[in-house]
Amino acid sequence: MESADLIVNADYVLTMNQALAVIKSGAIAIKDGKLAAVDTAARIAKNYSAPKIISGEGKVAFPGLVNTHTHAAMVYFRGLSDDLPLKVWLEEHIWPAEAKWLSPEFVGDAVELACLEMLKAGITTYADMYFFGDAVAQSTRKIGMRAVVGAGIVDFPSATGNNADDYLANAERFITKWKGDDLIVPSIADHSAYACSPETLKKSKALADRHDVLLQIHLSETEWEVKEILSRYGRRPVAHLDALGLLDERLIAAHCVWLEPEEITLLAKSKTSVSHCIESNLKLASGIAPVVKMQQAGVRVSFGTDGAASNNDLSILSEMSTAARVHKALSGDPTALTAKQAMLMATRHGAEALGLGNLCGSLEHGKAADVVLADLNRPHLVPLYDIYSHIVYSMNAADINTVLVNGEIALEGRKLINADEAEILAKAVQWGRKIRG
Ligand SMILES: [Zn+2]
Repeated sequence: MESADLIVNADYVLTMNQALAVIKSGAIAIKDGKLAAVDTAARIAKNYSAPKIISGEGKVAFPGLVNTHTHAAMVYFRGLSDDLPLKVWLEEHIWPAEAKWLSPEFVGDAVELACLEMLKAGITTYADMYFFGDAVAQSTRKIGMRAVVGAGIVDFPSATGNNADDYLANAERFITKWKGDDLIVPSIADHSAYACSPETLKKSKALADRHDVLLQIHLSETEWEVKEILSRYGRRPVAHLDALGLLDERLIAAHCVWLEPEEITLLAKSKTSVSHCIESNLKLASGIAPVVKMQQAGVRVSFGTDGAASNNDLSILSEMSTAARVHKALSGDPTALTAKQAMLMATRHGAEALGLGNLCGSLEHGKAADVVLADLNRPHLVPLYDIYSHIVYSMNAADINTVLVNGEIALEGRKLINADEAEILAKAVQWGRKIRG
């Protein structure tokens, strides 16, 4: 008999390992934050004892969902302006609001709300692109989530700098401060090829390589962006990044809506990862990324919510459901983007895209215990024939019951453990009053 810190039982355990093994009447033994064993409940009960055991009756356990592209603090701008094209929305509404309101206090409070929402939607890891990275990191740690926090880089002045060199210097300081943290992974976030000059992009890449951190960017999100980059540099955005040496497996590109076949080949060959943000793209009418074609070419595609001001929620369950339907309709092929493929994109492929493939994304011995328990005993989830189908096509955030990150319980019975939910909501209402004016 071995000792564990915690045993989690579940009617179904989706491992999302290479064999995509699903264990009926399964259990997970957790020790020192890691998965000591993932097996049948009978074998775990025989081999492990623990001071705390979660029964998991009527529940499914799966790896924490991974949100590979968001701007967490933008939850405070949710619903501030909608039903506009990206360029107008961004330049006339969002950037002015950010210029007026962004501060470490704003970002810290907003990120608590975003983490609460994501945790309650079964997300354990997210990749963030924003400013005031220390505030993002501190609030994420407080809630008890894992994040790849990108220090934002643009060429224009904002609340955190006057020019690209300011942002780059801040990014280096941020990376040095947070490298080695058990929950926060520092990263660099270039806004886009239209908001960052070739020189800024090259300096960012050099900095990312020097510290071996992930580079994040928005890429080919709109038709306007493609035309703009073509007119400025005489090449399309993907070719532009390729020429600057940015494409490789340490780059995650959000959107990639407007791609020519040769650009898909470039992304595949360079092992660049793509974060598919379908709900944001649909709402801003930016277009629909050619996900099926990218996957056929071997591009690793995962899911991102993008910011709450353009989605307008932070749920990967919802992204999976939308994407699996839209790509079937778009390709005229109901066998395209299956529930199983969607679940892989939301878990293991997302973790790999963020460079965390060895740490999370599947429930396998030795990985961090980032585990979600969701209720199955719900009107829209009985009877059950195919667990992947239910998670992707029927489940929603309200079904998420308990969430562990790094072996620690962050949400139990839908209750936030590390902070006061009512206080987080009250602070959001207060900020909203100020922002509305
Ligand atoms: Zn974005």
